[in-house]
Amino acid sequence: MRGRLLSLFIITIFTITLITGCAQVTSPSNQPEPKPSQLSPDLVDSTPYLESFLVKRGAAVQEALNYSDITSITVLVNKQNHLSDDYVPPDLVEPNIPFTFAEKAEKRLLRQEAASHLEELFTVAQENDIILYGVSGYRSYQTQEYLFQYFVQRDGSEEKANQISARPGESEHQTGLAMDVTSESVNFGLIESFGDTKEYEWLKDNAHLFGFVVRYPQGKEHITEYTYEPWHLRYVGQELALKLYENNMSYEEYLFFRI
Ligand SMILES: [Zn+2]
Repeated sequence: MRGRLLSLFIITIFTITLITGCAQVTSPSNQPEPKPSQLSPDLVDSTPYLESFLVKRGAAVQEALNYSDITSITVLVNKQNHLSDDYVPPDLVEPNIPFTFAEKAEKRLLRQEAASHLEELFTVAQENDIILYGVSGYRSYQTQEYLFQYFVQRDGSEEKANQISARPGESEHQTGLAMDVTSESVNFGLIESFGDTKEYEWLKDNAHLFGFVVRYPQGKEHITEYTYEPWHLRYVGQELALKLYENNMSYEEYLFFRI
C-alpha cells in the first residue's frame, strides 16, 4: 500500500511538473481544501481527489517560499523561470573575501544579505583550515548574453552551450545571490575536481549553516538541467538551506515534492 501510494505521489507530481514546468500551479477544482487528517485510505485511493489535494498543497508551499518574487532571497531562477533583461538586484555590495582576480568588476558583487553571510562562511571556513576564494558573483543580463554567445561559438550550438552556460535571464548570477568559489588545490579553477577537495567536503556539510546551498549537485542534473557544479553556491537563507540540506533535495525537487 505504501509503495503504491508513493508511486501515485511521484507520478502525480511528475505529471504536474511536465504540464506546468515551474509555473504557478492552480487547482483544477473549487473543492474546499481537505486537511491531511481527513485523508482516509479510501480517499487517498481516489486519484482525482489526491491530485486536487496535491496541487493545492504544492501551490501553498510555493507561495510560502515566494519563489516567483524576483527580489526575494528564495527566488527560483532556472530554465523555466526567467529574469527580465532590465532586472538589477537592489542592494549589491562587495563582500570582504579574497578573490582569484585583482580587478574591480561586477562579479565581485552580491546582494547585501548574501554578502554578509558569505563573509561569515569564509571566516568560519578559514578557522577550520579551509581557504576559499571567490571567482564570480553578480552577473548582469548583458554579461550573461555575451558569455552565452561565447559558449555557443565554442561548442557549436545553443543546445550544447546551454548544458553548461545559462541563457541570458536564466542565470542565478543575475540575482546577486550566487557566488562561484574555488581553492588553491584545484589551481583556482571552476572544475569538477573541486568536488573531490577537502574544501568542497567542508562546504557540502556546512554551507547551509550560513544560508547557502550547492545549487547544482551531482546526481541531480536531470532535475536542475545543469551539469554538476560543485563550485556554485546559492544563497537562499538559512531556513530553506537547512531544509534542502536535510532532505538532500535541489530547490526544484523541494518545490514539487515537499508536500
Ligand atoms: Zn555559478
